Amino acid sequence: MFPEEDDECFDEHLAKLKNAVIMMVDDEPINTDVIQIHLETAGYRNFLITDQSSQAMGLLKNENPEVLLLDLKMPDVTGFDILAEMRKEQLLKHIPVIVLTSSSSAETKLKVLELGASDFLSKPVDSSELILRLQNTLTAKAYQDQLAFYDSLTGLPNRRSFIQRTKSAVTNASQEGRSIAVLHMGLDRFKQINDTLGPKIGDTLLVEAAIRIRDYLRSSDVITRFPHARPWNDLARFGGDEFSIILTGYDQVDDLAFVARGILESMKPIFTVGDHDVYITPSIGVASFPGDGKDADTLITKAASATNHAKERGRNSFQFYSEEINARSIMRMKMASSLRKALENGEFLLHYQPQVNPHADRVAGVEALLRWDSPVYGMVSPSDFTPLAEENGMIIPIGNWVLHEACRQASEWRSEGLQDITVSVNVSMEQFRKRDFVQSVKHVLDTSGLYPGFLVLEITESLMMENAEKHIKTLHELKALGVELSIDDFGTGYSSLSYLTRFPVDELKIARSFATNIHEEPNHAAVGRAIIAMAKSLGLRVVAEGVEETGPLKFLTERGCDLIQGYYYSKPLPKDQLPEFVCAMKGYLENRMLPARNKTPLLTG
Ligand code: C2E
Ligand code: MG
Ligand code: MG
Repeated sequence: MFPEEDDECFDEHLAKLKNAVIMMVDDEPINTDVIQIHLETAGYRNFLITDQSSQAMGLLKNENPEVLLLDLKMPDVTGFDILAEMRKEQLLKHIPVIVLTSSSSAETKLKVLELGASDFLSKPVDSSELILRLQNTLTAKAYQDQLAFYDSLTGLPNRRSFIQRTKSAVTNASQEGRSIAVLHMGLDRFKQINDTLGPKIGDTLLVEAAIRIRDYLRSSDVITRFPHARPWNDLARFGGDEFSIILTGYDQVDDLAFVARGILESMKPIFTVGDHDVYITPSIGVASFPGDGKDADTLITKAASATNHAKERGRNSFQFYSEEINARSIMRMKMASSLRKALENGEFLLHYQPQVNPHADRVAGVEALLRWDSPVYGMVSPSDFTPLAEENGMIIPIGNWVLHEACRQASEWRSEGLQDITVSVNVSMEQFRKRDFVQSVKHVLDTSGLYPGFLVLEITESLMMENAEKHIKTLHELKALGVELSIDDFGTGYSSLSYLTRFPVDELKIARSFATNIHEEPNHAAVGRAIIAMAKSLGLRVVAEGVEETGPLKFLTERGCDLIQGYYYSKPLPKDQLPEFVCAMKGYLENRMLPARNKTPLLTG
């Protein structure tokens, strides 16, 4: 299964050698050209060539080739210099170097050997000699690496190798300003199994467990979530019954919890070893950089300590090193399971935040905002539970409920005499992507009896842009139903003007993060002005949300923003408080028609 099994035959071994990365440094390109042709004829295919000896060290560090073919006489930095430098570097001193020299002086040869070269070849190079020397050097290196860096039982990288990999992962992450995490795990009660069933069964079980973990890390679940990482390459046997993984390329701690849970799941099916059926569970600890530790040793130690914590807390579980993250992760897991029942238990409700036309002091619409009144957690903010609902698929039924309830309520208000009030509903991308989404909107309009022009669907800018081409068709289908479309949190994504002209949208909502200090923060002011001007030229309505003070209100109103949604006018209100608010707004009765929203006919009754 793993690369280093005993019966690996020689041919396979040779085939593998041909994948080796061969680096060449020579100031005369003709020399490296000739060698490359010889080696390509022999089946080698990965070359890293430079005629700039001053760049050799940088390349070596970045690319970590399997072997270096090095010229000695070069201007500026000589082959001797490079050899001497390499021996000082922990990570480079094990790379074998074959020196190519036209000198036959014994003194030179002695000197390069002293500097750590593994072999030398005379120039001009004889092709069969070159191939033989290279093969021997690579074989010796592969054997040494095997002993030094891999575990002989599972074939996985060993502790030493894992520590080295973690170090370089930390270095890269800190250069690029990213996070990484170490997942460390121990198999619960492994010692007991080893003692009762014998070390042979124990060994087989370790191999099987390693295969399970690795296969899980290569599964489509993990690949979809970590499209830019290859975590299975960074799985190591840390020692005894302990395995470790480096995880890169994640956005949030939920992604780490996802992998930890996946590993726990993957170990659940019974292991059949010889005549024995064995259950085994892991305990997993997670520590992340830079939060929990700034260097590899600290990270590994903390991940291991979190593993112990997980064991103490009852095994077959995972634990984050940081108490705070850990508590949050546990809370989210529990919350996700309550969320499943919340809909049938009727724990959701909608609040409605007025959108006011500041030029007429009149309520033109409301945004329906979801609230979860949980008996366990109290009032939970949608920002806390919608990501969870998106993850476990609950967002679809919840979103449908919101759409129904908002349209039903709007229709009820109309029949009570609150006219010309649009209702905006937030649509998540999961919902939007469903094939029957357009159909379900039509169904809601039919059953609620709401005039389509009074329903505004809000889609966030960043989600919209993710697959813009594909979404345009759905947007047109929705428009054909007569509903209005709004781009939410505009300014936080990366919409290009050209796309905007192609989206059949009616409204842009300036993100709260811009609106809050738009009057005093020059960048936000510039963006705000540009958004309003652009929207006007495209005939779009502009809504600013998150307006709390007179400063931004004045700024936005003077520049022609159509509607203001924010605490300045009102917080989101429970449904029974809305009519009172609408009626209390000055000018309501006098200004039944609103310039920005007069596209739809005014229905009465
Ligand atoms: P959003 O659609 O951008 O909604 C605006 C958020 O800003 C609301 O937070 C609102 O209460 C808040 N807000 C409005 N004015 C002010 C203000 O002046 N100051 C401050 N500090 N906040 C203000 P909320 O209700 O917590 O909703 C947060 C997000 O949750 C929403 O952002 C939306 O993306 C999502 N959401 C809410 N309801 C639903 C829903 O039914 N379905 C989906 N898919 N997402 C929803
Ligand atoms: Mg919204
Ligand atoms: Mg918004």
